[in-house]
Amino acid sequence: MGLPVQLLNALSTVKGFDNNAFEAVHASGEQVTSIRLNPFKNAQPFTDIRKKSIPWCKQGYYLSSRPSFTLDPIFHAGAYYVQEASSMFLWHALEQLVGSETKGKKVLDLCAAPGGKSTLLASYFYDGLVVANEVIKSRAAILVENITKWGQPNVIVTNNDPEHFKQLEGYFDVIVVDAPCSGSGLFRKDPTAIEEWSEENVLHCSQRQERILAAIVPSLKEGGMLLYSTCSYSVEEDEKIADWLVANMGMQPLQIPIESEWNIVQTSAKHCGAPGFRFYPNLVEGEGFFIAAFIKSAPHSIAKLKEVNLPKPTKPEMALMQQFFAMPDGYSAFKQNEAIRIISNEWMNTLQQLANVLYIKKAGIEIGTPKGKDMIPSHELAMSVVNKSSLPFIDVDQSQALQYLRRSELQLDAKQGWYLIKFANVFLGWVKVLPNRVNNYYPAEWRVLKA
Ligand code: SAM
Repeated sequence: MGLPVQLLNALSTVKGFDNNAFEAVHASGEQVTSIRLNPFKNAQPFTDIRKKSIPWCKQGYYLSSRPSFTLDPIFHAGAYYVQEASSMFLWHALEQLVGSETKGKKVLDLCAAPGGKSTLLASYFYDGLVVANEVIKSRAAILVENITKWGQPNVIVTNNDPEHFKQLEGYFDVIVVDAPCSGSGLFRKDPTAIEEWSEENVLHCSQRQERILAAIVPSLKEGGMLLYSTCSYSVEEDEKIADWLVANMGMQPLQIPIESEWNIVQTSAKHCGAPGFRFYPNLVEGEGFFIAAFIKSAPHSIAKLKEVNLPKPTKPEMALMQQFFAMPDGYSAFKQNEAIRIISNEWMNTLQQLANVLYIKKAGIEIGTPKGKDMIPSHELAMSVVNKSSLPFIDVDQSQALQYLRRSELQLDAKQGWYLIKFANVFLGWVKVLPNRVNNYYPAEWRVLKA
C-alpha cells in the first residue's frame, strides 16, 4: 500500500525529509530488529546474531535476523526487551541531561504501556523511583507483565488518567510523555497503520497531546525535566507541540548533543526554536521517532500530600517470610490483598502518598503469600533482581525450560520443596517438588502457547 499523499505533501518542507528515499525505504520491506539488555540480569542473548551495538544506547543491539523471541526462555525471564532502536535514544538523552545524578530521583513515565521506555527508565534510574502509568486498563496488564519480568524493585505501576496527577503538584524530577500519536513512524513495521492514518487523526492526536501535557506539566518540579516523544512525523504532533509547551506551559527548551554520523535530524520549532530530534528510517537504522526535551522554569507550590497507611504483615507472617526469604537490607514490607511485598525504605512514604491519589497496580516486589505454615512464593520474586542467592534452584536445559514455560509437567530429581527454575543464568519461575509429582507455578496467563 502506498504512503498517504497528504502526509508526503505535508512533510515536503520539513527539514531532513527526502521523499524518494523515504518511499524507497518503506517499499523495500527491510525490517530492523533490535534488543536492549537488562543490565541487572546475567545473560548474554544472541551473541551469534548481534550485528552491532546501537550508538545511542549502550545496552542496545541490532540483530542480523529476527529470532523467535517467544521460544527463547530468557526473553520470558526479562533478560532483554525487544525494543525499536530509535526509541532507545531516550537513554542518550538521559545521559546528556541527567548524567549520573539519578539517586533519589522521582520519574514518571505517563504513557507507559507496553513498557519499552519504562524498562529503560527502570535501568537508568536504578537508584531512583519510576512510576510507570498507563490509562487503558487492558494495556496496564501488559505493562505489569513487562515490569515484572524486568525485575527492578524501584517501579510503581499505576492505571490513571493524566488528570489524576494534578494533585501531585511539583512532585516529579523527570516526566516522560511518549504520547499516543497518529503512528506514521511505524508504517514500515506495521503497514496496517497506513490505512488508519488521516489528517483528521493527526489533528485529533495533537489536541489530545496538548490535553495530556496540560494535565501533567503541573506535576513536574521547578527545574524538572520533560521528555516529550512521538512516533509520528507530523509537525502538528512534534515541533508545534514544542512551541505550545514553551508558549503556554512555562517550559524552556533543552539541547541534546548528538553525533553527526548518527544521521538524526535536528529541527527547530518555528516560534520558540526548541530543538527537536527526528529519526527518519531512510537515514537511521530504526523507525520514525521524534523527541524533544524541556526544563520547567515556572514556579509551583509543593503539594501537601496525605499518606494511606498500607497494611503491614503481622509478626507471624513476617517470621514465615523471613524463614523462606530473608528480607534484603534497606527494604520495608507491606501487604496488598493477602500477599507480602517489599519496597526500598526510601520509597515507602512516597508509595503511601501515591496510593492516596492513584490506582496502584503493582509496587515494589511481591515476595509471596502466607498460607497456613507455608509461604507461596511469588513469580515477581523469581523475576526480581533482588539478591536471591539464599533460595534453592534447579538448573534446566533449553527443552526443559520451554516445557516449564508451557506449564507442562517436569521430571526433576530433587527432594521436596520450592525451587526456582534456572536456565542460562536467569530464573524462569517456581516449581514445588512433591513426593509424586512436580507442580509448575509458571503464571497460567503468561504461558507459552507457540509450538
Ligand atoms: N511508552 C510506551 C513504550 O515505550 O512501550 C509506548 C506508549 S504508546 C506510544 C502511548 C500510550 O499512551 C499507549 O499505551 C496508550 O494506551 C496511552 N494513551 C492513550 N490515550 C491516552 C491518554 N489520553 N492519556 C494518556 N495516555 C494515553
